[in-house]
Amino acid sequence: MPFALSVMLTGGYDLSSVPLPEEKPFWADILLAFRRLESSELAAFDPSGTSVDGYGFTTIVTEGRLYLVWLMKQIEQLGGRHERRHVSSLDELADYDAVVNCTGLMAPKLVDGEEMYPIRGHVIRVRAPWVRQYTNKDKDIYIIPNTDTVVLGGTIQKGDWDTVPRPEERARILERCYSILPSLRRAPIVREWAALQL
Ligand SMILES: Cc1cc2nc3c(=O)[nH]c(=O)nc-3n(C[C@H](O)[C@H](O)[C@H](O)COP(=O)(O)OP(=O)(O)OC[C@H]3O[C@@H](n4cnc5c(N)ncnc54)[C@H](O)[C@@H]3O)c2cc1C
Repeated sequence: MPFALSVMLTGGYDLSSVPLPEEKPFWADILLAFRRLESSELAAFDPSGTSVDGYGFTTIVTEGRLYLVWLMKQIEQLGGRHERRHVSSLDELADYDAVVNCTGLMAPKLVDGEEMYPIRGHVIRVRAPWVRQYTNKDKDIYIIPNTDTVVLGGTIQKGDWDTVPRPEERARILERCYSILPSLRRAPIVREWAALQL
């Protein structure tokens, strides 16, 4: 899979239902073409009228499911080896010069005294090839174009270990995304899932 397909340059909109601080956010100068949105732009991107402030910019969308595969190929081409196995104790890795423990939520099983809790996220993939810009509102509403689908989200639920999607959350995610971009109502659902992040 070519690298170009996993990293896309895209217009981005951060919408807010409350007024944002006067000063620019710290990340403003990292992105291309950062600007405060005019009221006419806010109305265009959120016909429900509940976005009273926001930023526009150009950013990149990196698709992890493609990008990680590409990265793994680069490592292999450079002579790296990939071995998949369960590690019950870090002692099993005592012969290595360096060990990076990136076992996510399972890290406490390998390191005594560590405490971790998940943040549950519920997302839905829809087929909407006409959506090419990224939109986020109030942190937990987002519309992210990928190469073949568009990701609609989401939820931010601290300490919730349940990975079964809930119908009431599905309805809430869809309604909130539809209110920002009504054309999404025509987009068929391809997949949905709830998962745990750090
Ligand atoms: C619904 C949802 C949507 C998200 N969307 C985005 C997004 O759009 N953009 C973004 O940047 N992030 C997103 N995230 C967050 C992103 O998925 C996580 O931040 C990322 O997966 C964390 O990567 P990680 O490698 O640290 O941990 P993980 O992905 O949890 O990987 C840990 C790995 O360690 C392995 N492991 C654990 N214990 C052991 C053991 N004892 N022995 C061997 N292997 C072990 C596991 O099998 C797993 O493969 C999303 C998360 C969720 C839940």
